[in-house]
Amino acid sequence: MGTSRLAHAPPGPGTVATDAAVARAVATDPAVHAAARHAARCAAALLALTGAAWSQAAEAPVLAPDTWFPGELTDAAPRVATDALAAGYTDAPVLGLTFTVQLEAAGPVYIDLRSAEFDAYLVLRDPSGKVLAEDDDGLVATHSRLQFEAAARTPYRLQACALHGQRGDFQLRLGLGRPAPGEGIAWTEDEIRARLESIFPQELWKKVDVVESKYYLIFTDGGAGKSFGKILDKEIFAGFRELFPFEEPKHMRPLPIYLFNTRERYIDFIERYFKMEREAAEATGGIAFSDFYSTSYSSPRDPTHFHECAHQIMSNVLGLRGGGSWYQEGVAEYYEDKVSKFNREAETRMAIRTGQTVGLRELFGAQSMLFSASEDKKGGGGAAGMYGQAASVILFLKEGPQKKKFGDFLQRMGRVPRGKLDEIEAVFEELYGWSIGELEAEWREYFAG
Ligand SMILES: [Zn+2]
Repeated sequence: MGTSRLAHAPPGPGTVATDAAVARAVATDPAVHAAARHAARCAAALLALTGAAWSQAAEAPVLAPDTWFPGELTDAAPRVATDALAAGYTDAPVLGLTFTVQLEAAGPVYIDLRSAEFDAYLVLRDPSGKVLAEDDDGLVATHSRLQFEAAARTPYRLQACALHGQRGDFQLRLGLGRPAPGEGIAWTEDEIRARLESIFPQELWKKVDVVESKYYLIFTDGGAGKSFGKILDKEIFAGFRELFPFEEPKHMRPLPIYLFNTRERYIDFIERYFKMEREAAEATGGIAFSDFYSTSYSSPRDPTHFHECAHQIMSNVLGLRGGGSWYQEGVAEYYEDKVSKFNREAETRMAIRTGQTVGLRELFGAQSMLFSASEDKKGGGGAAGMYGQAASVILFLKEGPQKKKFGDFLQRMGRVPRGKLDEIEAVFEELYGWSIGELEAEWREYFAG
């Protein structure tokens, strides 16, 4: 954390662009918002991760037991290759950082790698480099765990890796013995306190409630946490699972939500945490980033919650962090449409008829729809239009003539590294036999008839 900043300009060399940070801009006047819900802008912010790259030239650091080691995996990390990776993870080169695990006494140990920003993967090697064990999702969701019997005074090489071209912050820990049930998954008191103190200004620390529901951990200075948690579990999380079916997670690390009592406090937080200009912070109604989402308190059934929850589930439960801004926002906006019974079909038909759409190549290529060039274009798909258009593409794929392929589409597109237009096109070609141009013709035909 703390290494991210908002960047309006394209990222420079050596930085990693991600729009995992998603800001939803809504009209701040509730009346305006209600009157023109379809015009409310849901805006994706572009973040550049610019933390100092971990240098592989340094000796592989020795992991101290029972301490979470925070790190960041960037494009500067070296490539990691194993037979299992070559066989099963071919969508993007796997990068990883190397650590040393060495103990005085022999015995069982376990290693946990958690990341809210990439699908974690661990590789353990003996001192000669031979692979001893590998793990993808052994801890929970996309978090990884390896367990093994360590020999005494043996320098094992441990590689903490990111799959699917994803990058970002991580936490790595070496545990001695065998893990207790729920260890590494449940939030510890220390973790909760650290989170609370990093979110709220000190004068509010005593006023903040931390409420755990089945799937969520709600930090709020507003006092409505308990009933809100129930609605989140039973309506918002369950509703998303119904619309985009996936197995109910047996174990889950509760997803944090930062719910501020006033909009002022929310804006303060966004400005400080993302080092955002105040004006840009004020343009957001909610923001989803890393494992959390945040907004100011309104009705628990405000569409903002459905929208931001969709982002959070896609990223943290399903590990679908790629595809681009159009894919992420399209899914979130589509969910919001369903909940608010918004007539996306009619809206799209009208947009096509009046020339208020952009080409799908432009839509798919936009790194961040909030800061896309189209926003300035007269009469043509500003941010609000692009969000709606993204939702209409998801609607077409999910409900149109090829709807049987939607499950595959969701999984495959969600792992395409962001901004890779040719890889986005390859998914459409392989699944549907369509180029982006052909997809666009089918999409137009579906709505315009
Ligand atoms: Zn969004």
